[in-house]
Amino acid sequence: MLIARLIAEPDGLETRLDAASAALEARGIRTAAAAMLEHCGEVLQISLPDGDVATVRELLGAHFDPCDLLVARDTIEVPRLFVSDMDSTMIGQECIDELADYAGIKPQIAAITERAMQGELDFPTALRERVGLLKGLEEGAIERCLGERIVPVGGARTLVATLKAHGCRTVLVTGGFHHFADPVAERIGFERVVGNRLAVADGKLSGALAGAISDADTKEATLREEAARLGEGARTLAMGDGANDIPMLQAADYGIAYRAKPAARAAASGWIERGNLTAALSLLGIPKADWVAG
Ligand SMILES: [Mg+2]
Repeated sequence: MLIARLIAEPDGLETRLDAASAALEARGIRTAAAAMLEHCGEVLQISLPDGDVATVRELLGAHFDPCDLLVARDTIEVPRLFVSDMDSTMIGQECIDELADYAGIKPQIAAITERAMQGELDFPTALRERVGLLKGLEEGAIERCLGERIVPVGGARTLVATLKAHGCRTVLVTGGFHHFADPVAERIGFERVVGNRLAVADGKLSGALAGAISDADTKEATLREEAARLGEGARTLAMGDGANDIPMLQAADYGIAYRAKPAARAAASGWIERGNLTAALSLLGIPKADWVAG
């Protein structure tokens, strides 16, 4: 059995539901029941006896977009583990692009970032190239950049605080840098950070990474390692927006693409395109009365 939950524009919802049900039926997928989720007023829950996640996601997206959506097998429960990407998911910026502005090379760096996030470039190669271009930048620029440019995405703190209050462990895993991720994690409330370290010498970036690279494989491995510690049956949630989040999104029980690149969206079991990050709480069935302000 599949469960699909979605939040869409309320106008014409029933008409679109009829059209979506007909489209699903045409692909051999029957809609067993559809009703607003109790205690989560705006969430429409559709039960399907069978069918594959990708087809259901694609057809619901076609009929309800822009919407927030989660499709899962059997049940949707509050997860015991939340692993999230940072840049353009928990914060509205790509840190390396903003930092590059302090070196006067934002357009060059941002062009590489965009292609890497679309999945057009090998992530480790693209990361090392960009870090190399930042060689010689004063380390102090990072703190200025953090203060002047980096802003959490709406709902980030409430999402993390509420999941923690429901017994969920929270981990921020980034292909970006600890210099940014550590203060961001503290501000939003994450319990652990995994990321890259920028090498610094004499107060300046040396243009290299210190230690092992944190890439798509690291994100997936972190999710699996944390999930294994929780034991059998613990549900996992991952969230991200870029191509390097795909293995992590696919490894999680619930992989939500947040205003994501097409490749990441296509690999996820749902997405947020309409609301802010708290839409994930509604999709997980946590009523607003139980949200914890971050
Ligand atoms: Mg990202």
